[in-house]
Amino acid sequence: MSNSETKCLCGAVKISAKQINPKFTVCHCQSCRTWGGAPFFAVKCGTQVSIEGEDKVKVYESSSWASRGFCSECGTHLFYKLKASGEYNMPVGLFANLEGLQMDMQYFSDMRPSYYCFSNETKEMTTAEIMAYFAAKM
Ligand SMILES: [Zn+2]
Ligand SMILES: [Zn+2]
Repeated sequence: MSNSETKCLCGAVKISAKQINPKFTVCHCQSCRTWGGAPFFAVKCGTQVSIEGEDKVKVYESSSWASRGFCSECGTHLFYKLKASGEYNMPVGLFANLEGLQMDMQYFSDMRPSYYCFSNETKEMTTAEIMAYFAAKM
């Protein structure tokens, strides 16, 4: 398996991502923390993603702009996918041997609870900044 290939815990779903950006993002929003029990560490994988065993992938529409996929057999979180662009964000921990990883951005920094913090120096965006950014793009 190359660095850009992985599989879920049970092996029913295999993923190959050709364009992984090693500058990963962290999302502190309540949806991500509800989904995973902790902030979501994600690598941007673009659209060149192939998934084997798609019949075992359960997709949940978590908002009007994105969906979240997981393995229906073992529950491994597989992706957060933006509907408009088709771009995938995948949990950084899915890929065991990625090189050059760097925490680059923390989203919804104002929603970060008080019981953890990271010492990494990163960019941050608050809820208001994220809403303004997306409003400008629409
Ligand atoms: Zn599985
Ligand atoms: Zn989030």
